[in-house]
Amino acid sequence: MMSQMIYPTTNFASVETLNIVRGDGVYVYDNQGKQYLEGMSGLWCASLGFNNAELIEAAKNQMETIAYAHMFGGKTHEPGMKLADKLSSMVPVDNARVFMGSSGSDANDTQIKLLRYYFAAIGKPEKRKIIARERSYHGVTVGAACLTGLPINQTNFDLPIEALGVLRTDAPHYYRGKKDGETEAQFVDRIVGNLADLIEREGAHTIAAFIAEPITGASGVIVPPVGYYDKVQALLKQNDILFIADEVITGFGRTGNDFGVTTMGIKPDMMSFAKQLSSAYVPISASVIRGDMYDAMVEPCSKLGVFGHGYTYSGHPVACAVALKTLEIYERDNMFAKAAETGAYLQSRLQEFADHPLVGEVRGAGMIAAVELVANKETGEAFKDGKVGYFAANACQEHGLISRPVAGSSLALCPPLITTKAQIDEIVEKMGKALNDTLAFVK
Ligand code: PLP
Repeated sequence: MMSQMIYPTTNFASVETLNIVRGDGVYVYDNQGKQYLEGMSGLWCASLGFNNAELIEAAKNQMETIAYAHMFGGKTHEPGMKLADKLSSMVPVDNARVFMGSSGSDANDTQIKLLRYYFAAIGKPEKRKIIARERSYHGVTVGAACLTGLPINQTNFDLPIEALGVLRTDAPHYYRGKKDGETEAQFVDRIVGNLADLIEREGAHTIAAFIAEPITGASGVIVPPVGYYDKVQALLKQNDILFIADEVITGFGRTGNDFGVTTMGIKPDMMSFAKQLSSAYVPISASVIRGDMYDAMVEPCSKLGVFGHGYTYSGHPVACAVALKTLEIYERDNMFAKAAETGAYLQSRLQEFADHPLVGEVRGAGMIAAVELVANKETGEAFKDGKVGYFAANACQEHGLISRPVAGSSLALCPPLITTKAQIDEIVEKMGKALNDTLAFVK
């Protein structure tokens, strides 16, 4: 179907449209009536499926009460204040303060601004660089895209902007990053050693923060090896560098716990959220910081000038009402514990693909996973380009499963948290068929 649309993150030269017209639980339907199990929750986000009646009702009720109100200069409203307090009570950040926006990208842009403002307020304006990892994904607005470490988000856009001071360190992916004969522990020591060298070289007094997705998404669902975060955190602490956990994908029950930081044993200073905060029904994001960081900015604000950062839709009341209802459902239905159980089942079923001739690595935690396809199973040699990954994702689609090719030739899965074990079986069956089709394609 032709349209005037400029499609996001798309090859303009080969746009293949899939016109989704309706959703029901974890299933979506195209304009031909074909059913797909949405194994990616859209873009890692629709945790409660695609037509949750309570979320629809929450949006409708809020629109009927007041459809829009803003929060500049202290204007406020109940759903916004309630959501900030609820989120603050849930996150493992002391006396957390919450800033709201509409997307994961803007949440990370806000973190950059909060860092700058905070360090200016405490008299350390030179502490401003941010360490991000190779292959990380933190969004695509100009600021967030500088943090992102994937070439397609920077090449052709003249990014990163030098002045932003983004430093790059290793991706913690043992399977892809290990050197000959290196054990996991040696790999961790080497890459944390590289991080230590980077900090030493740049000077800790110039570095504000380290940002990481506890478990990555778009870069191929990387679960760092045991010990990695302990060593990274010790190093950061030693050097007075803050830890920003980008929980845009991993937040709210995705990885087998409430947050990715819980799964990975991280004590963050700042956290970014979006996606599952509202089950993606309405765009909303949150940038969370330690309470004492906020307190330190209060007095100096009269000297520094107003914190000049805010969006028209910061704390949009409809988004806040839907997010509040989403968090209520998570709690009431014991959703994180249930998803942990279903997630363990997903991980164990996916391990059945480990012996498949095309599969190099099966990895994940809870309800997020990736199956990496390789040209040579023995050596782990990767496919030269993304064609095989795209073929495999299309084959999944043919069989009625939506997956997504990430990091070249890995097939990602991130099904809604409400997915049942029977539906996990359906995912595995459909993906198995697609892997066999892909094997025939590459031969
Ligand atoms: N951070 C992470 C970890 C993400 O996965 C994403 C999006 O996938 C973003 C940030 C950006 O979020 P958005 O697309 O809502 O701007």
